[in-house]
Amino acid sequence: MILELERKSNEEIIKFQELELVKLLQYLNSNSPFYKNHFSKNKVDLTSIKNYADLVKLPVTTKDDLQNQNWDFLCVQKNKIKEYCSTSGTMGTPVTIGLTKNDIDRLGYNEYLSFLAIDGNADDIYLLMLSLDRQFMAGIAYYEGARKLGAGIIRSGAGNFPMQIDLIQRLSPNVIIAVPSTILSLISYANEKEIDLNGTSVRKIVCIGENIRNEDFSFNELGQRITNAWNVELFSTYASTEQQTAFTECEAGKGSHHHPELLIFEIVDDDNNQLPPGEIGELTITTLSVEGMPLLRYKTGDVCTYFTEPCSCGRMTNRISPIIGRKQQLIKYKGTTLYPQSVFNILNSIENIKEYAVEVFKNEIGNDEMIIYIAVQDPNDELDFKIKRTLQSMLRVLPEVKYLSLDEIHKMQISDDKRKVSKLKDLR
Ligand SMILES: [Zn+2]
Repeated sequence: MILELERKSNEEIIKFQELELVKLLQYLNSNSPFYKNHFSKNKVDLTSIKNYADLVKLPVTTKDDLQNQNWDFLCVQKNKIKEYCSTSGTMGTPVTIGLTKNDIDRLGYNEYLSFLAIDGNADDIYLLMLSLDRQFMAGIAYYEGARKLGAGIIRSGAGNFPMQIDLIQRLSPNVIIAVPSTILSLISYANEKEIDLNGTSVRKIVCIGENIRNEDFSFNELGQRITNAWNVELFSTYASTEQQTAFTECEAGKGSHHHPELLIFEIVDDDNNQLPPGEIGELTITTLSVEGMPLLRYKTGDVCTYFTEPCSCGRMTNRISPIIGRKQQLIKYKGTTLYPQSVFNILNSIENIKEYAVEVFKNEIGNDEMIIYIAVQDPNDELDFKIKRTLQSMLRVLPEVKYLSLDEIHKMQISDDKRKVSKLKDLR
């Protein structure tokens, strides 16, 4: 099913969003202590903001603003907050996002739209291999979305592969929602136990939190290794707690679709000017129909581009490319610049590597340094040579490589709040 708005032309969609934008500005000016002050401090004439291009007249909102003045973003009485979600805190102090009842409904509607994009229906059974606790927003978003769709839900949580396999075999889910590297671990567990995953009911996997595609939409190593081992369709998504909205791929796999009634997005350059389709910049979002903590021109820190051509699935909505990297995570290393994601892609492509973590820090003269920690089955000179040669040829520089046990790497990967695993330890 495709919503009427998603079939409309770009111009019609933008016209719809512009009306919503005007309403949002009035709402923020009346209800948000942060934005009231933000507008008056920056001498913004709100009556002059009428269309999409006018957005550039508005100052941007940064992660620092949200971290430093978290509760000034709240537009409702505190007793209207029904869910306290939180960012993971991997990039500094966690931010609390308070959701009203309407915001929770909106969040569910958002993933309902995502499920429609992957051809979801009420006969589906979703295995939610993700955390539904620890204030994690994605967990409740997918749960609410699947409920709205009328589908069956199995809340299995992250990890515990024997249990996941048992649930798959006994309850026959056809869709899994999970972090793709967890799927890779599930595959290797199944291989060890000689369990045939292709004989199971699973047909689709919605991948959250990590990239599965290269910039040309081909699967990256992670996507390839999953689809080589398991005959499933993979769908990429992009979302963040702050924006309370996901972008999700359809079956065309040519970028993640935008939900236009829930979000306005811009791709901007370093001076916050809007860039045309195809150009790479920072994803900047404005939430629509959020009641508790709406955001205006919020700079996500994620770098990507976007496409406006109609999609073969029948939707006219814009699509964003795979995220190329986090602006803050750009590493300037030995005369070259790279995002951690490109290092991950290379490490994912080397078969014998069981797990890894990349540590980035500043050396005594203020330059970025990088150490790659790797766990392999049986460390030996030949493998060490192969790993270093691959890194050197793909990165054009050779970072320091150290070998650790699988347990030591797993310990390194756990974030302070124990909610997410992260292959990047950024100490800068
Ligand atoms: Zn599509």
